[in-house]
Amino acid sequence: MIVSDVAEGQALLRELVVESDCIAGFTGAGISTESGIPDFRSKNSSWHRHPPMPFDQFMASEDARVEAWKRKFAMDDMHGGARPNAGHRALANLVARGRMNAVITQNIDGLHVASGVPEEQVIELHGNGTYATCLVCGIRHELKDIRQRFEATGKPAKCLCGGIVKTATISFGQSMPQEAMQRAQVATMQCDLFLAIGSSLVVYPAAGFPLLAKDNGAKLVIINREETALDEAADLVLRTGIGDVLGPFAEPGSLN
Ligand code: NAD
Repeated sequence: MIVSDVAEGQALLRELVVESDCIAGFTGAGISTESGIPDFRSKNSSWHRHPPMPFDQFMASEDARVEAWKRKFAMDDMHGGARPNAGHRALANLVARGRMNAVITQNIDGLHVASGVPEEQVIELHGNGTYATCLVCGIRHELKDIRQRFEATGKPAKCLCGGIVKTATISFGQSMPQEAMQRAQVATMQCDLFLAIGSSLVVYPAAGFPLLAKDNGAKLVIINREETALDEAADLVLRTGIGDVLGPFAEPGSLN
């Protein structure tokens, strides 16, 4: 069923939320566009001017790493101050009320944790762009320090151990994080309602989770203002803005 009327969508979603025992949230770049971070598919998206660099290219030369850090800092200058919006807050409210067990996200912006979802209930399938790690010893590096050194020397960050330092994101061509994938699988198999929000559902293996939930007997709801690759598999498609339909769920008393 495809619904594009916001009030009708809210009523149907509320019914499913009330009936369910365990909800899993799954988010893509669309949940953060209302915070000012563009998705890949928007026209004139700043990602097109500063595209994330594939992993093999990043590893191939120091020049490539200089370029990758330039793009990263340019994106941070534009979007680094983004704050959670009503969609993030609605999921945080569902988690706080014990209705949602986990938020599985493809996003790298850290906004689910910033909205108050405990870190242990956020599963970042594509890592996190708000800090960096050494590819050899794994130690965490802060972007502020990396940027200071980069601006002073023009050199990309290196770890004390000599390893290459990279944002803690999973770049194209890098293997998926095993622990996050396993946690996402558990959360997917536990839920009886799976909410896929703001994802075009074309990036695999992440887009396999909605189908896994459905095959396991959960109801699947997709919230996206445009058609997605999995609309036909969904029990309910809310073809609306995310903040419009989820806004009321962000109110503290809304789930009483
Ligand atoms: P996508 O760009 O492929 O799709 C986003 C979807 O959200 C689109 O289908 C669009 O119609 C929908 N959408 C956008 N704003 C919306 C709104 N306000 N209301 C309703 N629908 C809205 O995103 P994806 O599926 O996450 O895949 C792209 C990849 O890019 C991911 O792997 C992700 O890691 C990465 N990415 C992350 C960020 C971020 O962290 N914020 C931003 C851009 C890209």
